[in-house]
Amino acid sequence: MMKKKDQMSASPRSSNLSGLLVLRKWMKGATDLLFPLSCPVCGTSILADGHTLCPECVQDISLIRSPLCTTCGREMTDSAAGDHCCDRCLRKPPPYSSARAVAHYREPVSALLHRLKYQGETAVIPVLQEIIGMQPLCTLQEGEMVIPVPLHISRLRQRGFNQALILAKLFFANRKERILIDTLIRVRHTVAQTGLDGLARRKNLHQAFAVCFPERVRKRKIVLVDDVFTTGTTVSECSRMLLRAGATEVRVVTLARVRE
Ligand SMILES: [Zn+2]
Ligand SMILES: [Zn+2]
Repeated sequence: MMKKKDQMSASPRSSNLSGLLVLRKWMKGATDLLFPLSCPVCGTSILADGHTLCPECVQDISLIRSPLCTTCGREMTDSAAGDHCCDRCLRKPPPYSSARAVAHYREPVSALLHRLKYQGETAVIPVLQEIIGMQPLCTLQEGEMVIPVPLHISRLRQRGFNQALILAKLFFANRKERILIDTLIRVRHTVAQTGLDGLARRKNLHQAFAVCFPERVRKRKIVLVDDVFTTGTTVSECSRMLLRAGATEVRVVTLARVRE
């Protein structure tokens, strides 16, 4: 026993150091084995239990909750009367029949969307898929077709993908055959809507969209998918074009919604 201890204490310092490194490496390996994933938002190690986010980041997601406006889908914070049509939609009904969103456009949803759109980080897609699963918006009615809000071809070339199409595939993962691409197109390159007021937004999008194959939407119910519902100007303009082409109804589904 003594002999062994003597041997250990007699070992050179470098060997102690390398022993420590081996131990650290082993512990890291063991931790990685237990927590092989890290939360893509905050970096915390997470259990491989099928969740893509850590529990704290899941808690930060602000889901849209009833009572809602049955038309535009905005949260009615001042009402205890349940879902009903808001004054704004009663006064001036939008062209779409309803708009629904999964969550409020704030962290971590806003950051994840930003990373997808502007940094091309496709690694966030499974996280968005999990967030989409938090609301029951993924069902299609009989005969309903899905159309993503299109990008202008120049923006599409620059970005390489249309985030609305990615989201449409996440919302309706088992019904991808219902997704119509190249049906509604953006014919005019418009400036970003951010920073424009209501009238300027409408002017900016005037005649920005066109329906290429009206026969695909004629007498059809359409689900229009976009990433963020801000003022509803974009989805309203798209809805108008689809209804003009003969669609019987347009309902809007978005991942996020800007709180008014
Ligand atoms: Zn986290
Ligand atoms: Zn409303």
